[in-house]
Amino acid sequence: MSALNENLKKAEAYLARFREKGVLNRINGENVPAASGATFESISPIDLKPIASVACGGGDDIDRAARAAKAAFAEWSALDGTKRRELLHAIADAIVARAEEIAFVESMDTGQSIRFMSKAALRGAENFRFFADRAPFARDGEALRAPNQLNVTSRSPIGPVGIITPWNTPFMLSTWKIAPALAAGCTVVHKPAEFSPLTASLLIEIAEGAGLPKGVWNLVNGFGEDAGKALTEHPAIKAIGFVGESRTGQMIMGQGAGTLKRVHFELGGKNPVIVFADSDLERAADAALFMIYSLNGERCTSSSRLLVEASIYDSFTAKVAEKASRIRIGHPLDPETVVGPLIHPEHEKKVLSYFDLARSEGATIAAGGTKYDGPGGGCYIVPTLFTNARNDMRIAQEEIFGPVLTAIPFKDEAEALSIANDTDYGLAGYVWTSDITRALRVSDALEAGMIWVNSENVRHLPTPFGGAKSSGLGRDGGDWSFDFYMETKNVAIATAPHAIPKLGG
Ligand code: NAD
Repeated sequence: MSALNENLKKAEAYLARFREKGVLNRINGENVPAASGATFESISPIDLKPIASVACGGGDDIDRAARAAKAAFAEWSALDGTKRRELLHAIADAIVARAEEIAFVESMDTGQSIRFMSKAALRGAENFRFFADRAPFARDGEALRAPNQLNVTSRSPIGPVGIITPWNTPFMLSTWKIAPALAAGCTVVHKPAEFSPLTASLLIEIAEGAGLPKGVWNLVNGFGEDAGKALTEHPAIKAIGFVGESRTGQMIMGQGAGTLKRVHFELGGKNPVIVFADSDLERAADAALFMIYSLNGERCTSSSRLLVEASIYDSFTAKVAEKASRIRIGHPLDPETVVGPLIHPEHEKKVLSYFDLARSEGATIAAGGTKYDGPGGGCYIVPTLFTNARNDMRIAQEEIFGPVLTAIPFKDEAEALSIANDTDYGLAGYVWTSDITRALRVSDALEAGMIWVNSENVRHLPTPFGGAKSSGLGRDGGDWSFDFYMETKNVAIATAPHAIPKLGG
């Protein structure tokens, strides 16, 4: 049997429960349908056939979940940090034990290829381990001396929080947001994306199976404008950790205003990769390709704008086009596949529309630019490179969120920087040069939250993750996550009988 057929057989076994029983909400430790009884179908992007019928939650379900999270907060937040550490490690162990199942279900639900999803499941476990180890110290603060005064800061969990996640790598992103919230002592209501809801239900099942008390984590499926909106407006929910599009972030900020919600946003990007002629061009090309064509290009930190020094522009883009044309497109469960189908016909339509736009804007399609007739007939498109582009074109300004790269020439460092920063977004930037001084200068001047020099995106969990400008608010990673999920308190203690102003004698 071929590796693909073997994987398909396994995937069907893992999906059987979803096909039979659908996906329910999970509130206070119980699987429940939506209060209204409504459901929606989750389709596979491979063949556009339904995989599961999913509970379509709304305001009533969010209210129940928020109440459950509120009721569970006192006990969970008071639990010793070392106990939380133990529990979160147990969740990580349980994720590892079911990593294959998670990866297969995620591939079938999102179209992301198994070669990347198997790592994403394990990375999810790493997220839990990382924050588990920090849980005992989450409340720690500083001692700050002043004349006649000792100030002691400490942190406490903010309360029940809402987590809203997108569809691109849903399992990994959910762990990235939920693990620090739990480690900090918060309870959670999670609203996953409607396009890819399956692995969120596996994740909560795994967590409760590993011993997480009921109500600490609750899951409500549904649409953004309904369940998502209700979550952002609920008075019991103290903060919203959101990953998704910039315009949704704008809406959430408005929706949360009435309850003065604390918000943390990880939003879109149109990230430049700047290639100077003095860089290791082979490595630069491989990194640029990896960052735009892995994960189907449905990646917030994708290197979607390729800025190349004019003297090497033609040869470098020819190299990228040639490598892009050799990328394997196929069924996501085929171990050889790099690019699988895009998440949904709606998204595919959006991505395909940029091919006509590129032509009408006067760019050249140097690779791809067409749909691909892949197995199952789903949302496959060919890895695409636009050349002869200018930064004021829409193909250079808008987040396409597919395997589509726009290459723009620059004549010198100043022009590279001005092009790189001429965007509403500011998530990530990549700089390729062998001149360390220039690397530092350019990194300093780039308007983005994260810069990688001579590297693709390699995450180190203690470092801050997040964007500037329209790409986000706040940072995750290291201690930054705890700062979001916790309130900081300062206690000032007089250390001497200082003179107190006497009013009234
Ligand atoms: P999206 O904004 O459409 O949806 C994200 C989530 O928000 C979904 O769960 C959706 O149901 C919910 N939502 C929609 N409207 C809402 C509302 N009014 N109130 C509350 N919730 C609402 O994003 P998407 O299309 O699912 O994901 C792709 C986007 O996510 C891209 O822009 C990508 O760059 C971004 N993203 C960013 C990061 C990052 O770390 N910066 C990571 C991954 C994805």
